[in-house]
Amino acid sequence: VNQGWIASLMESFGSGEPDYVHAVDGVSFELREGETLGLAGESGCGKTTTGMSLVKLHEPTAGDIIYDDQRLSEATDAEIKKFRQNAQMIFQDPFESLNPRMTVYDTVAEPLRIHDIPNETARVQRALEFAELLPAEHYFDQYPHELSGGQRQRVAIARALVLDPDFIVADEPVSMLDVSLRAGVLSLLDRMTDEFGLSVVYISHDLSLLRHMCDRLAIMYMGKIVEKGPTDQIIENPQHPYTQALINAVPVPDPGVGRDRVELQGEVGDVIDIPTGCRFKNRCSEYIGDVCDQVVPPLEQKTEFEQDVACHLYESAAGYDPYEEMSGS
Ligand code: SF4
Repeated sequence: VNQGWIASLMESFGSGEPDYVHAVDGVSFELREGETLGLAGESGCGKTTTGMSLVKLHEPTAGDIIYDDQRLSEATDAEIKKFRQNAQMIFQDPFESLNPRMTVYDTVAEPLRIHDIPNETARVQRALEFAELLPAEHYFDQYPHELSGGQRQRVAIARALVLDPDFIVADEPVSMLDVSLRAGVLSLLDRMTDEFGLSVVYISHDLSLLRHMCDRLAIMYMGKIVEKGPTDQIIENPQHPYTQALINAVPVPDPGVGRDRVELQGEVGDVIDIPTGCRFKNRCSEYIGDVCDQVVPPLEQKTEFEQDVACHLYESAAGYDPYEEMSGS
């Protein structure tokens, strides 16, 4: 890919032995320069593990990240350090992600010191001002316990931006905040994406939030992506039964959207003892028999629509035949 860069990830955690948690399995996607991608799904589906792996806070047991045409598994220590400078993460809980013993100034300056970047004070000031903590000097000597939740998340955003990264993972960035503070932080994140030309992966269980923030969506279930594609396409024309149920659960202004879909029943399956075939089969309203039990549905484009879907209900655009796979096993 010659324009911008791509992050691609194919990873798995665990070896198939009992007691290993398969947090993420075979997840692979691309992220282009300036693009926003939403990772959606219920708790425990592997969203956060995927996000942490993308910024190398987790090492998957298999797979790789390709960043700006370079495989990170083959990168030198200096190249990995450069990647860490360019790839930042904003965590869900601003009460836990900030060191309670560090002032706001030191919190934001710390990444600059780690990466030996000069003009510390000017950069810290600019990052705090961008995060709308004004006047910036007023916050320099404050500690996290002196700040509101919204101000803490703004400090976390300033810390992520101070290195001028080109890629950010934002993991449920407003879910711990009071409802009254969320819109302000979301609009700051929106501005951050535009003004810095950032590529951002937003992780959230909240599809209505992702709908507004993201160019594309990837829906995860039990460690796998079950559907991905342009946001509007997925919200207005979901094809995987799980995506349909998730969208059905979202309160939407248009009562016609998703309201003829089925409700999501039952609980997420066991990520230690992964079922054979489709992982969604015990909750699926469209279950079509042995093929769902025996063959893992590949994530691929189907003949009828644009997005990629992992479900045996639809005909494979590439000619893959799960029944042939079943009879051969
Ligand atoms: Fe449902 Fe079968 Fe599709 Fe899985 S493969 S989502 S069980 S129809």
